[in-house]
Amino acid sequence: MPQELAFFRGGFVPIEEANVNIKTHALHYGTAVFEGMRGNWNEDKEQIFVFRAREHYNRLIQGCKIMLMDIPYSVDDLLDITWELIRRSGYRQDLYIRPIVYKSEELVANLRLQDLDADFALITVPFGNYIEVEGAIRCKTSSWRRIDDNMIPPRVKIAGHYVNSILAKTEATLAGYDEAIFMNHDGSISEGSGENLFMITNGVLTTPPVSDNNLTGITRDSAWTLATQELGLDVVERPIRRTELYLADEVFLTGTAAHITPVGQLDERPIGDGEVGPITGQIRDMYLGSIRGDNDKYSHWCEGIVPNVE
Ligand code: PMP
Repeated sequence: MPQELAFFRGGFVPIEEANVNIKTHALHYGTAVFEGMRGNWNEDKEQIFVFRAREHYNRLIQGCKIMLMDIPYSVDDLLDITWELIRRSGYRQDLYIRPIVYKSEELVANLRLQDLDADFALITVPFGNYIEVEGAIRCKTSSWRRIDDNMIPPRVKIAGHYVNSILAKTEATLAGYDEAIFMNHDGSISEGSGENLFMITNGVLTTPPVSDNNLTGITRDSAWTLATQELGLDVVERPIRRTELYLADEVFLTGTAAHITPVGQLDERPIGDGEVGPITGQIRDMYLGSIRGDNDKYSHWCEGIVPNVE
């Protein structure tokens, strides 16, 4: 039987024992950095393939640097802890893997980062689709603007900045849309609430630079690699204006949770014919074919772990 476990305070424990005190700094102020990765179950190989874990942990460490958080683990240590948790938990299904480094000091009314302890914890949970829509989704330009790098840096996954994403996603879904698209203060496009964004016009992919306040996305990098290496397409990084999306041939979002998600409508305007665009479809199929350890050319993106059988 699979067991829900956590890596917490330096050891593997049942999830019920992985609890923090109400005074924990991160709970009050969002002073944590986290990651979200996927472990993808491959039935034939009887392994869970974890997608681009090293890149996720590198981004976690970048976040720790910005947030003045020290942990006693290298990226290699973190990878070993992750493989061990997956082995011990024994799940034989798709997983979401959530590492978090948080200011664990039990101290309220303190607005500094320095001299406060930080701790690393890791959990895994069974996970299926993030966006429950087959085919192309309907998006809304958010009335919430994207936070700027000089407010709370969006290039890494700082817990507190997710309030911005949550406000936008809530507004969009309460209004009946599937996802929100953020603009920056100057009206340029940043990203989705939890995904990077690409548009395709005349066969060229365009995506906003990370300096337009989006996350340094690992799925973004994977889509970029597949589009250039496998389809021979060009990718351009430049600011995008809202109406360019209305007029694009195709738009898609990229994220660990959302995979490659085609956008069929933005603000009630169909994008292309409103269906899954042909290039988006090809990139999505190649991506989904690479995350379960079945594509030899991209096997370096995946680490296969055999879960323990009790
Ligand atoms: N932007 C935001 C705000 C996100 O939360 C995510 C999900 N991690 C992404 C983009 C996509 O990043 P990645 O492909 O690395 O999951």
